[in-house]
Amino acid sequence: MKNILFVASECVPFIKTGGLADVVGTLPKKFNKDEYDCRVIIPNYRCIPDKFRNNFRYIHHFYMDMGERFSSVHVGIMYYEYEGIKFYFVDNLFYFGGDKPYADTRYDIEKFIYFSKAVMAILPVIDFRPDVIHCHDWQAGLVPVYMHTLYRNHPFYQNTKCVFTIHNLRFQGIWDIPTIRSLSGLPGWVFTPDKLEFHKDANMLKGGLVYSDYITTVSDTYAGEIQTDYYGEGLDGLLRARNQSLRGIVNGIDYTDYDPEKDENLAKKYSARSFKKGKEANKLALQKELGLEENPDRFMISIISRLTDQKGLDLVRYALDRITDEFTQLVVLGTGDPQYENLFRDCAWHNNGKVSANIFFDEALAHRIYAASDAVLVPSKFEPCGLTQLIGLRYGAVPIVRETGGLKDTVQPFNEYDGTGIGFSFANYNGDELLNIINYAKHIFFDTRKEWDQMVSRGMKTDYSWINSAKKYEQLYDSLCG
Ligand code: ADP
Repeated sequence: MKNILFVASECVPFIKTGGLADVVGTLPKKFNKDEYDCRVIIPNYRCIPDKFRNNFRYIHHFYMDMGERFSSVHVGIMYYEYEGIKFYFVDNLFYFGGDKPYADTRYDIEKFIYFSKAVMAILPVIDFRPDVIHCHDWQAGLVPVYMHTLYRNHPFYQNTKCVFTIHNLRFQGIWDIPTIRSLSGLPGWVFTPDKLEFHKDANMLKGGLVYSDYITTVSDTYAGEIQTDYYGEGLDGLLRARNQSLRGIVNGIDYTDYDPEKDENLAKKYSARSFKKGKEANKLALQKELGLEENPDRFMISIISRLTDQKGLDLVRYALDRITDEFTQLVVLGTGDPQYENLFRDCAWHNNGKVSANIFFDEALAHRIYAASDAVLVPSKFEPCGLTQLIGLRYGAVPIVRETGGLKDTVQPFNEYDGTGIGFSFANYNGDELLNIINYAKHIFFDTRKEWDQMVSRGMKTDYSWINSAKKYEQLYDSLCG
């Protein structure tokens, strides 16, 4: 039996702002339980819903040194078992008491330094000795650094390996060296350019990448892209140097949570065989719910996304007036950059009955939109994996994507000559290319409906569950543990 610990800042069903939470909450359930005891540790945010928090069990608490500035910081350990997985929650109201998991950068830096250090201190207390600590994104970046410095000679961690998964290279946890040094209590010699130093500052993600035994990211294409100047976010040199210990393992989605045959959120459930009737009923219900014209023949495109530059929304802005013609409806669900929130609010205001802007986070509504939509639009500038296109496929909403990262690896483009493919894609980051491919998709939808329906059916039958990828992680753990 191998012990694996996931360390992350978010995890479904407790707290989610993006795809990271889906992966951290789902993947542990997919490992072979006879061979891997995979547990998860995240912060005990006060904004985790009460229905969970009220059932967390107190295990222990102690006080921990935190760098030069604070001694005796409270560390509480809470515990909860959910769907067969053991979850631990690091409790500290000062750091995790806000109404959102993330706030301003300086505060987040301190919060996740504390979190990483607390994780290292907690494991001996709960006596869970991991063979592999699997860290996710910059918030867990200091865990491998602590392991090789302050905990280097700690008997508990002598045989522990670290795997680091990059879900998004853009976010790195960067602040000035004196602050990070004094908050973390790390020795001065780690703040050099070959370790944590990054353009004179300290970079927590970089620390994680330098000190981990193996690095993964969430698709093959992204694994290659991040070794280039364009996508490397300043770390491409390091990633090229670590090329022999770096690979992509594509994300899956939870086929139990995302299942149109069993989804209680839907107006009507449906399968790959009954999708025509099912999706029509869901479209009509959603049109009614959102105040759109109730007409099953409208082409419904949706965007379910963080509204940030990464997601290619400047291309959408460029083409917006021409996307929303009289036969097309656009449904947006997302939050983020105010310029995009206002863009879609404004667009909905001017296109009453044709465009719906839902500027908030709502998991159940997301499910209803996937079920109702004919297409999901994901024109990202970069996309490590992307889950929306996978969820879209599962619900028979055809993905229209840009060929980057995981979007390229998961959406085989439609080929009208041999009747293959499950979506539409364009290569260059260019608004006219986006518009062309949307117009082409409209043409297939309106003029050759049979071909469209066959594509929907092929997409729904494509397997993007976790089965294959979970095996790849298992093999990676095995190879590291020898
Ligand atoms: P990222 O992790 O970059 O945000 P992903 O495509 O990997 O993007 O994952 C996004 C996840 O968050 C998907 O499960 C998507 O359905 C969900 N999501 C994004 N915005 C919202 C929202 N406003 N309401 C509900 N779910 C959302």
